Amino acid sequence: MLSVKNLEVVYNDVVLVLRGVSLSVPRGQIVALLGANGAGKTTLLRALSGLLDIHDGEITKGQILLDEKPIQRWNAPRIVAAGLGQVLEGRRVFGEFTVEENLRVGGHTRRGGLSESIEEIYELFPVLKERRKRTAGYLSGGEQQMLAMGRALVAQPDIVLLDEPSLGLAPRIVAQIKDIVVQINEQRGTTVLLVEQNAMMALSIANHGYVMEHGKIVMDQPAEALLQDSDIRDFYLGRG
Ligand code: ATP
Repeated sequence: MLSVKNLEVVYNDVVLVLRGVSLSVPRGQIVALLGANGAGKTTLLRALSGLLDIHDGEITKGQILLDEKPIQRWNAPRIVAAGLGQVLEGRRVFGEFTVEENLRVGGHTRRGGLSESIEEIYELFPVLKERRKRTAGYLSGGEQQMLAMGRALVAQPDIVLLDEPSLGLAPRIVAQIKDIVVQINEQRGTTVLLVEQNAMMALSIANHGYVMEHGKIVMDQPAEALLQDSDIRDFYLGRG
């Protein structure tokens, strides 16, 4: 449903950060995108979401197809309205707003009723229901990540891009986030592109995985095969 063909991105007219990236995310799957810091993963997500221009970035070559339609010139609201949601790096929630207000903001482009949509989010994340009247800025890191995910999901996207949802979270919370990603994929049929440093977590739930290095895809394999790969084990999973 989402495919990227030979994409090139530059920042500030000069720095070439993506150098011909191609990948595809089939409908209904979870696809993992791995890579070291600075490999270009966030840049790719920005390109997919129409958010490059606010970072002085630009697509100079290639195509992004969402359900066969080229979207590389679309702006962010149009891309969201077409069913592609994203949870940005750093789980940016509106810190001064309550949990429920954050969810309402996320739902302004939804297709069905807002209250039903928010209730569904509370079923996925019971802790958000408990904290519905709390100011988002006072939530724990894990709760803010759940709120950032909830805010994207309330719009009922067909595909969601997650940028390092496990970053900085305790193992128990990472396990919860992982279960929720599986649940939204299985129950809602949401397609997921999951960017992670936590390769074990990502590959354990993904169908397929890509590894990026210096702005290029260097590995492209079923997740199970990547989990067995000795280079991946050494670099991302640690020996053992
Ligand atoms: P991380 O896991 O650290 O977020 P990443 O794989 O997501 O890494 P990117 O954030 O996409 O990598 O960064 C790729 C390269 O692009 C890096 O060298 C980074 O310094 C550069 N870069 C990112 N944003 C900008 C920007 N707004 N202007 C110029 N260069 C940038």
